[in-house]
Amino acid sequence: MNIELQPIGVMRSAFVEKFAIPRQPSLAPAARGRILLDPPYDTAEAVAGLEQVSHIWLLFVFHQAGSGPQHTRVRPPRLGGNQRIGVFASRATHRPNPLGQSVVRLEQVAPGCLTVSGIDLLDGTPILDIKPYVPYADIVSAAHNHLAPSPPPLITVSWQAEALAAARQAATRLGEPVVELIDQCLAQDPRPAYQQPGPEREYGVRLWDLNVRFHYVQLDHIRVLGITPTT
Ligand code: SAM
Repeated sequence: MNIELQPIGVMRSAFVEKFAIPRQPSLAPAARGRILLDPPYDTAEAVAGLEQVSHIWLLFVFHQAGSGPQHTRVRPPRLGGNQRIGVFASRATHRPNPLGQSVVRLEQVAPGCLTVSGIDLLDGTPILDIKPYVPYADIVSAAHNHLAPSPPPLITVSWQAEALAAARQAATRLGEPVVELIDQCLAQDPRPAYQQPGPEREYGVRLWDLNVRFHYVQLDHIRVLGITPTT
């Protein structure tokens, strides 16, 4: 059976590359984005009622997951990247169909545009559907997942003074919580588990129109070295 799906909109987010995007929603509350809805859903009618809802489910396409061979087992970063588990036991982006789902906070509702936060979606991600979060049905108080029992531990993030000043300036210009976004994303320890970088190794990540340079002082401590415009 072939199934054709049409996106109903697109995510515009700070995350212009995959590196350093939180691995699940809610981990970086300062990660905000806007869902731009396509016709005929770009009307007040299509979003009427959503102002009564605090969180929504986003169903979307991992449009940059690449199309490699289909694997039945994956090596999730959460398990250090060297332990294989069944694809259905993981939320890896390489899966039978490149479908993602995330619960995000709904900040603002306007015709054609939903502002959301706590996202883990790349800029340009096609959105297939949006559904209200229904606490009485979606919260499973007795649930467990022994593979991912708690949020990943956070590491320390510190700043060079000039980098912090540049991030504050960018925050004012963009109207976005840039300092908090960088703090929250880097505290997730974005490096692949197999990399054991020394302080001499410099990393860069693009957020909004900024290039954020940082290094690992130690494996549990990132220092932000500089913020420069990407253009
Ligand atoms: N919460 C979703 C889920 O469970 O289906 C996504 C989980 S997935 C592990 C999150 C990662 O997907 C992010 O850290 C980012 O690297 C990657 N990602 C986000 N949007 C993507 C996209 N449009 N295409 C490919 N990868 C994407």
